[in-house]
Amino acid sequence: MSIDNTTVAQNFSDRHVVIVGAGITGLAAAHQLLQQPHPPRVTIVEAADRIGGIIQASPFAGLDLVDESADAFLTRTPAAMKLCAAVGLDHHLTSPATNHAYIWNNNMHAIPTGTVLGVPGSHKAIWNTQLLTKSGKLRASVEPFLPRAIGRSTDSLGAAIRSRCGNQVLERLVDPLVGSIYATDTDNFSVQGMPQVAELLAQPTSLMRAARNSMQKRTSGGPVFATPITSMSAFTRAVRDRIVEDGGRVILSSPVRSIEPQGRSYVVHLETESLPADAVVLASPARHTAALVKQLSSETSTQLQQFEHASVIMIALTISRSQWPQHLTGSGYLVPKPVQTGVTAVSFGSNKWAHWKTASDEMILRVSLGRDGAPMHHLDDKALLEVALRDLRLHLGFDAAPTNMRFTRWIESFPQYRPGHEYRVETLDKQLHASAPGVVLAGASYRGIGIPACINDGQRAASRALSELHS
Ligand SMILES: Cc1cc2nc3c(=O)[nH]c(=O)nc-3n(C[C@H](O)[C@H](O)[C@H](O)COP(=O)(O)OP(=O)(O)OC[C@H]3O[C@@H](n4cnc5c(N)ncnc54)[C@H](O)[C@@H]3O)c2cc1C
Repeated sequence: MSIDNTTVAQNFSDRHVVIVGAGITGLAAAHQLLQQPHPPRVTIVEAADRIGGIIQASPFAGLDLVDESADAFLTRTPAAMKLCAAVGLDHHLTSPATNHAYIWNNNMHAIPTGTVLGVPGSHKAIWNTQLLTKSGKLRASVEPFLPRAIGRSTDSLGAAIRSRCGNQVLERLVDPLVGSIYATDTDNFSVQGMPQVAELLAQPTSLMRAARNSMQKRTSGGPVFATPITSMSAFTRAVRDRIVEDGGRVILSSPVRSIEPQGRSYVVHLETESLPADAVVLASPARHTAALVKQLSSETSTQLQQFEHASVIMIALTISRSQWPQHLTGSGYLVPKPVQTGVTAVSFGSNKWAHWKTASDEMILRVSLGRDGAPMHHLDDKALLEVALRDLRLHLGFDAAPTNMRFTRWIESFPQYRPGHEYRVETLDKQLHASAPGVVLAGASYRGIGIPACINDGQRAASRALSELHS
């Protein structure tokens, strides 16, 4: 077990909050708690030997750190930008060098402009793209004339878009975009799990007009994505450093085994010690949290066990610039499910990030495989590489000859928000609160998978824990 902590003169209260999991959610919760004028003592307990959870970077192709998972966060939801500023990283951020990308549907097509996550905001957006056939375009064009109620009573994202805009808009535009963000199959994914689309469907107008209104409102012009120039792991490290400076304790390599109620407080059992806690933030994924809440609420535990997750593989490759088709200047492409044969998305890392420049100026690609309903992680590296190279040949039209390779398996990393997810989470929260007030669920399993959503959720959980301490 390794322990990071420094002792600082803080005006701590006599209360203690334990946070389970040092992913971005747990770190954001700890940071928030320690910003209080009279903060509780805070301990983060992490099962792995490093902080960051899914956020991870490692040396690649001679570069110090290249992300193995998330390479950026959305700026429109300000939580990540604000946390970066709070930990002194705001002057070390960069944004993608290119803001266009493609969808491969037997040919490379630019993602049509004038769409919101694939939902067309005008007839022009529909008719200007070759991604849709003529019948697909005709079907999409009638959306503004459909009765407003159509597609609005279901919580299946796929069903909602199919019934309003037709199968092709779903399968060739919305599903590739949303599916690649969440490694999901949108037919089995909650509308509420994708707030940008949920907001469009909630408008009392056609979906097309709602998309157009949303684009018109969004004229701030700043970059949509940002990342620390020294990788996303610099972000989690900077938050951890601030937590430790503020007197928080971080315990690594120590999976929490159980949580035991003790009067109005709790005992958090690790392998080698037990920590008394007045409140506990469970920032571990639902499938791990299920075991931890058994003694607190067996019903909550059973329901958490039923949460489903998808696994993905991220292969980083370098290829010689001489191989690269000059016309492909975008940040990468997505592959719609009906034409997927393994690869789901490819990021053209060297186009996207100006700072990913190798000594011999090779092209860095990040190739994603596997998603909900199409697992690939049972294949060994050799077989995965064969699939990746076969698909790259099909999509890009040449035999890629990789000079560096790195395989990262993200097993059960993407929570799947099934239809009804929001209601399920609300119920779980109430149930756990009734039997274990002061124990709070947080993280990607519940209220958003993207990094800003996780930060918001960590901070919300911190506020809930604080209010329990004071009740
Ligand atoms: C390949 C990939 C690419 C992604 N790309 C992006 C992107 O570009 N932008 C974006 O915004 N989002 C992206 N995401 C999503 C985002 O990175 C994650 O949703 C987010 O980082 C999850 O954070 P978290 O803290 O909730 O969970 P996690 O990062 O999973 O952290 C949970 C922590 O809990 C620990 N833990 C589990 N059980 C225990 C226990 N019993 N005791 C102690 N600790 C325990 C785990 O070890 C882990 O460290 C991506 C995800 C993946 C997999």
